[in-house]
Amino acid sequence: MIIAERKPLDEIKSMVEGFDKVLVIGCGTCVSVCLAGGSKEVSTLISELRLAFGNAKPEFGAETLKRQCDMEFLSELDVIANDYDAFLSMACGAGIQFLAERFPEKPVFPAVNTTSIGVNRDVGVYEENCRACGTCVLGVTGGICPVTTCAKGLFNGPCGGTNQTSCEINPDQPCAWYKIYERLEKQGRLDLITEITPANNWVNQTPRTTIQPGYEERAAALKE
Ligand code: SF4
Ligand code: SF4
Repeated sequence: MIIAERKPLDEIKSMVEGFDKVLVIGCGTCVSVCLAGGSKEVSTLISELRLAFGNAKPEFGAETLKRQCDMEFLSELDVIANDYDAFLSMACGAGIQFLAERFPEKPVFPAVNTTSIGVNRDVGVYEENCRACGTCVLGVTGGICPVTTCAKGLFNGPCGGTNQTSCEINPDQPCAWYKIYERLEKQGRLDLITEITPANNWVNQTPRTTIQPGYEERAAALKE
């Protein structure tokens, strides 16, 4: 899931200062699970902002959509959008941008920082696992991501700094490539460690659109 954390109240307050009516919009998916931007967090943020502003404007409204990264759900705001002069979104960066695209005339502000793609390791403990690098190599690394777990993001490792089980940058941090070695050894696939994986072309450094196979015709028709 996508992991986010709420921005400090002062930062959020300064963004919405000067507006008359602000709609705070939560998202019912990832940011709800990590308790950063679901309906409860929308209510909490509005209470904090009301206290911070006292009797002064802005007035706040609340909505939580099922997903802000989906136009179908964003369209639910069409009927109330004109009642507000700014939006404060608690979705991840992708959702916030889709919201801004749907309502280009409306100032849209982020109430959260999107931090990573990861897993729920324990209650409230989120671990980064993927940086959407665009060239997934998990099949040859025993299912351990070298981009997020190796300090250098090496596709071929370990580097010369590996220190038994630790990474050279910090003795408390396990060497990702040592863990990959152990995992592959356990699976009887250790031969993979000597295979060279071509350098990533980092397609995630440029704007990307992914079209699922089977949807090409539909996507082409939308472009016309
Ligand atoms: S190799 Fe790339 S796509 Fe695969 S998990 Fe790591 S960052 Fe994500
Ligand atoms: S010591 Fe291991 S984890 Fe650290 S940078 Fe080198 S290969 Fe990556």
